Amino acid sequence: MQDTTQRPLPAFLGQGPRLLFINGKHVPARSGKTFQTINPATGKVLAEVAQAGAEDVDIAVKAARRAFEGPWSKWRPAERQAAMLRLAELVERNYDELALLDTLDLGAPISRTTLGRKRAGALLRYYSGLATSTHGETIESSFMPHDSLTYTLKEPVGVVGAINPWNGPIGMAIWKLCPVLASGCTVVLKPAEQAPLSPLRLAELCMEAGIPEGVVNVVTGLGDAGAALAEHPGVDKVAFTGSTEVGRKIVRASAGNLKRLSMELGGKSANIVFADADLDQAVPGAAMAVYMNSGQICSAGTRLFVQRPIYDEFVQRVADFAKKLRVGDPLDPETQMGPLVSAEQLDRVCSYMQLGKEQGARALAGGARLTDGPLANGFFVPPTLFADVRDDMRIAREEIFGPVVAALPFDTVEEAITRGNDSEYGLGGGVWTRDLNTAHRIAKGLRTGTVWVNCYQVLDPAVPFGGFKQSGFGRESGNEHMHEYFETKAVMVKFDQ
Ligand code: NAD
Repeated sequence: MQDTTQRPLPAFLGQGPRLLFINGKHVPARSGKTFQTINPATGKVLAEVAQAGAEDVDIAVKAARRAFEGPWSKWRPAERQAAMLRLAELVERNYDELALLDTLDLGAPISRTTLGRKRAGALLRYYSGLATSTHGETIESSFMPHDSLTYTLKEPVGVVGAINPWNGPIGMAIWKLCPVLASGCTVVLKPAEQAPLSPLRLAELCMEAGIPEGVVNVVTGLGDAGAALAEHPGVDKVAFTGSTEVGRKIVRASAGNLKRLSMELGGKSANIVFADADLDQAVPGAAMAVYMNSGQICSAGTRLFVQRPIYDEFVQRVADFAKKLRVGDPLDPETQMGPLVSAEQLDRVCSYMQLGKEQGARALAGGARLTDGPLANGFFVPPTLFADVRDDMRIAREEIFGPVVAALPFDTVEEAITRGNDSEYGLGGGVWTRDLNTAHRIAKGLRTGTVWVNCYQVLDPAVPFGGFKQSGFGRESGNEHMHEYFETKAVMVKFDQ
C-alpha cells in the first residue's frame, strides 16, 4: 500500500504534539507526557498527542464550572441556538478536513467518513431547535389553594464529563456536544486514545462559532483520564459511550457525588431474515449491517438468524457479497472497507476468528488476517462469515467488534424472538420480511433499544438510540435525550390573599 503518511496531511496535524484544549486554549499536559496515535492502514505514527492526567482533568473541570456559572449561564436559548447553527455551518464547511483526520486516525474509508457531513449538520440543527423548544410546564395542583401557581423549570444539569470510544470520532463528539450546547451545560470531553484528533479540531471550531471559552474542553489521554473524570466531584453528569466492562467501572467511580449517568454500551445484535424477505435487499442489508466501519459499530447485526428454507442460499449470497467488498487503502475513494483501528483490535478479532474455527464454525468468507502485499503493515482483516454456528459458541455470544458475522438457522417467529433475546445485550436488532404481522411481532418481541425493519443501521437525530439490559441506559437523540441534561425544579407559589 502507498504510504499515506507521505501524502499531504491536514494542516491541523502541524508540527509538534497536538495539545489539550482547555478554557479556549491549547495547553500541554502538566506532566509533559504525550502518547502516539497510529495510522492503522500503515502501522506508522500519525501524531503525538498530549496525555492528560488527573491534574489536567481537574483544571478542565474547573474551567467548565467557571463557564457554566459565568457568562454561559446568561446566554438565552435563542443565542445558544444561533451559536449551534453557526457551528453547523463551520462543521459542514470544514468537513473534508474532519473526515480526512478520521480516515487517517481510525482507518474508515474516505468514501464513508465524508458521508458523515450530512449527519453532523443534521444533528447540530436538530438540537439547535431543542435549545428553544425544551421547557418546563404549568401544573394545576390539587393541593394548593385556588389562588396559586405551580410550574416546573428545566435547569441545565451542570458540568458534563463525556467519555467516547474511537469508532466514530467526529460523529460521536458532535453527538455528545449537541445536548450540552442546547441545554446550557458545559463539557469536558475525553475522546478515545486510538482516534483523538478530530474532536480536538472540533473544539477549535466551537471557538470560531463564538461559543465562550471553557464551555467545550477536550482532554486527550488514556483510560486513567476517563477514570479521573468519572470520579471528579466537580462533574455533575457522565455521558459514556464504550464497552460494558468500562461502563461498569464508571458506574462505581461516579458514586461519590451521585453523578447523573447515561451509558451507551456494547451489543451483539440479532438480524433476522425470513424466507419471504426481498433477498436482493436483505443480502446487502445483512452484510453491511456488520461490515460497515469494519464491524466496529456497537449495533452491528452480528448474529444473523436466517429461516431454514433459505439458509444455505442466503448465507452463500452474503459470503459472495463479502468476498466482493473492496478492502484496502482507506484514502482510495473506491475502498469499501478499511483496516481495524489498532494492533490490539486486530489481535482481538483474529483470536475470535481462530476460536470460531476451533469451536467448529465454517468460514464461508474470510476467517484470517490479510497479510498479502501492501496490506501487511496495516491492521486488515477480510469481511468474514461463519456458518454452522451454534448459539452457545463464543463467536455467537461475545462482542467481537470486527467484521465477523455468525449465521444461525431458525424455524419460527417465536424461536427467533427467544433466541434473539438470549443475550446479555439489548442494543439493536433487525427483521427482514414482507409480512407485516411477522415484522411487528419481532419488533415487539425483541428486548432491544432499536429494531430496524427491512433496513439496518439507520440513525436519525430525532429518533432515540440506546440499549436495554447490559447495552446501557439512557437514550441519545430525540427529545428524550435533552431531558438527561436538565434537572427539573418544581415551583409552588401561593398568592398573597
Ligand atoms: P472502551 O470502553 O475501552 O473505551 C471507551 C472510552 O473509555 C475511551 O475513551 C477510554 O479511554 C475510556 N476509559 C477506559 N477505561 C476507563 C475507566 N476506567 N474510566 C473511565 N474511562 C475509561 O471502548 P472502546 O474500545 O473505545 O470502544 C468499543 C466499545 O464501545 C464497544 O464495546 C462498543 O460496543 C461500544 N460502543 C457503544 C456504542 C453505543 O452507542 N452503545 C457506540 C459505539 C461504541
